[in-house]
Amino acid sequence: MVAILVHGGAGPHRPDDDVEGAKRGCLVAARAGYEVLRRGGSAVDAVEAAVRVLEDDPVFNAGIGSALTRDGRAELDASVMNGATLDAGAVAGVTCFQNPITLARRVMERSGHVMLMGPGAEAFGREQGLPTVPNEALVTAAARRELQEHRTSNGTVGAVAIDSAGHLAAATSTGGTTGKLPGRVGDSPLIGCGTFADDRKAAVSCTGLGEAIIRVTLARAAADLVEDGLDGFEAARRAVATLARARGQAGLILVTPAGQLAWAFSTQRMSRGWVDSRGEGCGFGAD
Ligand code: ASP
Repeated sequence: MVAILVHGGAGPHRPDDDVEGAKRGCLVAARAGYEVLRRGGSAVDAVEAAVRVLEDDPVFNAGIGSALTRDGRAELDASVMNGATLDAGAVAGVTCFQNPITLARRVMERSGHVMLMGPGAEAFGREQGLPTVPNEALVTAAARRELQEHRTSNGTVGAVAIDSAGHLAAATSTGGTTGKLPGRVGDSPLIGCGTFADDRKAAVSCTGLGEAIIRVTLARAAADLVEDGLDGFEAARRAVATLARARGQAGLILVTPAGQLAWAFSTQRMSRGWVDSRGEGCGFGAD
């Protein structure tokens, strides 16, 4: 039994939201990840493949279309975790990679470290032969407009999966929050905060206000609740509820070791898409 669930960010529902684009984008990404799983690929392969699709889609706040810093630049964060080995890789503040999730995976598998930031992460990516792009290539007109209008962008992306060997993985990628200070790092590249995976607990990817998610180590909290025996949806709901104390709103997706896909969000919306042996689906609001 293999399964994958992706999210395309949690946040307020605005009249001009591209609801269909976000739902379709999530479904396309979930299908890409599922195809990897169906062919016998690992959960890590699947979450990387799904997140790359979302990073390439300008609808989402990751890769192309990322939210911009106060200075109008894209500074990207991403992380990935392998639930079988507890290996993890992350990058923060990278400015010249369209697919920071692949850079995070290289950090996990080839650097001997868990996290690289800024210029060091970029030098490592170049050494690894990953393609670079000018920062402007990541900047869309919509992201510039959001910055000018002081609107918070929410469209961080993430994926969780279980593969045919029963192993779990999680991945998250983002441009962060619109108008952030240069150098700000959110929850997305922090293991246990935006991303967590442990075959004995769950794989989790979060989205929402990073400053609040970090304070409650949301991804790890949700995974612990699954380990305590809670149903996946109940664990997701209770973990998200802990955020109120940290004065933030967020959402998360998870997959349990039994292959249950579940999610919860305290925002108005969290776009999502999934594929498992029973079929596929997508959602945007509370529907
Ligand atoms: N969690 C992301 C961050 O704070 C933003 C988001 O999910 O919308 O960087």
